[in-house]
Amino acid sequence: MAIATVNPTTGEVVKTFEALSTVEIQQKIEAAHSRFLQYRSVPLEQRARWLSEAANILERERDRFGELITLEMGKPLKAAIAEVEKSASVCRFYAEQAAEFLADVPIQTQAASSFVRYQPLGVILAVMPWNFPFWQVFRFAAPALMAGNVGLLKHASNVPQCAVAIEEVFVRAGFPAGAFQTLLVGADKVAMIVEDDRVKAATLTGSEPAGASLAAIAGKHIKKVVLELGGSDPFIVMPSADLDQAVKTAVAARMLNSGQSCIAAKRFIVADAIADQFLDRLVEQYKALKVGDPLLPETEIGPLATPGILQDLDQQVQTSIQQGAKVLIGGEPLRDRPGNFYTPTILTDIPKGCIAEYDEFFGPVALVFRVPDLDSAIARANDSPFGLGASAWTQDETERERLIEEIESGSVFINAMVKSDVKLPFGGIKRSGFGRELGREGIHEFVNIKTIWVQ
Ligand code: NAP
Repeated sequence: MAIATVNPTTGEVVKTFEALSTVEIQQKIEAAHSRFLQYRSVPLEQRARWLSEAANILERERDRFGELITLEMGKPLKAAIAEVEKSASVCRFYAEQAAEFLADVPIQTQAASSFVRYQPLGVILAVMPWNFPFWQVFRFAAPALMAGNVGLLKHASNVPQCAVAIEEVFVRAGFPAGAFQTLLVGADKVAMIVEDDRVKAATLTGSEPAGASLAAIAGKHIKKVVLELGGSDPFIVMPSADLDQAVKTAVAARMLNSGQSCIAAKRFIVADAIADQFLDRLVEQYKALKVGDPLLPETEIGPLATPGILQDLDQQVQTSIQQGAKVLIGGEPLRDRPGNFYTPTILTDIPKGCIAEYDEFFGPVALVFRVPDLDSAIARANDSPFGLGASAWTQDETERERLIEEIESGSVFINAMVKSDVKLPFGGIKRSGFGRELGREGIHEFVNIKTIWVQ
C-alpha cells in the first residue's frame, strides 16, 4: 500500500510520501537504541514533565490535529477533536500515576529484603491502525515512555501526516531526539525491524492477519508482543432492559467512528420478548442518522477510511444476503456522491453458517440475532472467534451476575456501551489478542519485572 493521504470524503490524493530506505530504517533504529541507553536513567519527574507538555500541545492544537485526522481517515471532526483530547488525557494520566505504578513493590519472604522492581526493556516497535490515529499511538507511547522505553512507530500507510505530527508533538514537548520516532514504511518492513536485535518488543493494533504475522516473527526471535486485534462485540438486550436507553446506546455503539471501531457493538443479541420493539426503534433511529461530509458539525457518520474497506464491507453484506440474511435498512454503498460512504445497514434473520455469524463487519452494519432466553444469549455471544468487549442490558441482578461471569471477553459493560478508559485495562482474549493497554496493567507490559532478593 502506498504511503499517502487520500481524502476519503472526495477520493482526492492529497499528499504522497517516499518510504524510508533500509539504510534510513537502520539509522533510526540505531538512534533509538543509543537514546535508550541514556533515556533509561532520566528521572521519572523529568519524563512526566515532558509528557505533560505533550498533553498541553495536544490540547492547545486540538483543532488542527482534529482536522488532520478527519482529512486522512474521514471521522466526523468533532469526534476527531475528542480523540485528540483523549490522547492528552492518557499523557496526563501516566505522567501523574507512573511513579506509583513503577515504584518498588516490597514482598515479605525469608530474605532480609525482597522486592519487585520495574525496569524498561529498550526500543519498542508499535504497529498502529488508522481508525484512531492519535489515540492508539498515545495509549502505547505514554506508558512506554514513562517506563523508560523508547518508541518506534510504524503507522498505517493511509495516515502518514498524523504519524509525522505525533513525532513532532513529542519532540516539541522536550523528549530528546530518538526517544520517539515515526518510521514511514510499509507493512513489508515490519519483519526486518522486529528481527533487529536492538528492538526488544512490539505491539500491534490491527487485523488478525497482521497480528499473526508479527507474532510469528516475534516468536521466532523470542520477543514480547502485545496484540490488540479485531472484535465482533455482542450487545445483549434482555426483557428487563431500559429499552429507550438500550436502543439509543445501540446506535451510538454501532456507529462509533462511522462503524470502524474494534469495540463497536457488532452483534445485537436480543431477547424474543422485546425484539420487535427493539428493532422498530432501532430502524427509526437509523433513519435519522446524518451521513455526510465529516467536516460539517451535524454529521454523525462520515466516509469509511479507504475504498478497500468500503469494498470489503459491501462484499460481506452481499454475501450475507446471498446466504439468506435479510436487509431491514440500507445494504449498499451511498452512490449519489464521491468518497467511501456506506448506508447505515441492519441485517436480520442471519442463518446458521452465514459469514455474519462470525466475521467482523468494519463499518456501519448491525447484525441482529433473536434469542429465546439468557442461556441462548450467552451461548450466542460466546460463539465467536473474538473476545474483546461485551455490552449487556438488564435490570435483573441474577442475569447481571451470570453475564459478568460467563461472557468470554476482555471486558463486560452492564447497561453501558463498551469504551476505553485510561484508568481501566483494555484488551481481548481469543482471536482479539492478548496483553493489556491502559491502567496499571498497561504500563507493566513493556518492563522487566525484576525480582530482588537481599540476604
Ligand atoms: P491492518 O490492516 O491490520 O493494519 C494495522 C497496521 O498493521 C497498519 O500499520 C498496517 O500497515 C500493519 N500491517 C498490515 N499487515 C501487516 C503485516 N502482515 N505485518 C505487519 N504489519 C502489518 O488493520 P486495519 O484494517 O488498519 O485496522 C482494522 C483492524 O484493527 C480491525 O480488525 C479492528 O478491529 C482492529 N483494531 C483493534 C483495536 C484493539 O484495540 N483491539 C483497536 C483498533 C482497531 P499498512 O497500513 O502499511 O498496511
